[in-house]
Amino acid sequence: MDSCIFCKIIRGEIPSSKVYEDDKVYAFRDINPEAPVHVLIIPKVHIKSANEINEENAEIISHIFIVASNLAKELGIAHSGYRIVNNCGEQGGQTVEHLHFHLLGGRDLTWPPG
Ligand code: 5GP
Ligand code: ZN
Repeated sequence: MDSCIFCKIIRGEIPSSKVYEDDKVYAFRDINPEAPVHVLIIPKVHIKSANEINEENAEIISHIFIVASNLAKELGIAHSGYRIVNNCGEQGGQTVEHLHFHLLGGRDLTWPPG
């Protein structure tokens, strides 16, 4: 999608700190990290939010969770623990309208979220 900042990051039009890429997903450091490890994992196909997940495109979600699990090990947070977060819509705190999962770790994470 032309105007989407995460599509621009995938295309390399906006620089990013890449941690992983394959034919289906792209993962990069969040520009404003909330934890020592804060990675965003996004599908290369433009999906607006969790509201747009359906039977046709759902396979990408399991792939994203496999990538998250592998990255947690590579980035050294698998043993101590981590959180995978998706914010959906305005009240869910979604600020970028391209589906993304936050992988957060490296410190004690509070629960419940604010
Ligand atoms: P949301 O609030 O939609 O769940 O998460 C969007 C995330 O994208 C935020 O944590 C924000 O810091 C991050 N972000 C927004 N623009 C950019 C950017 O241009 N580069 C990177 N690396 N992260 C971004
Ligand atoms: Zn996009």
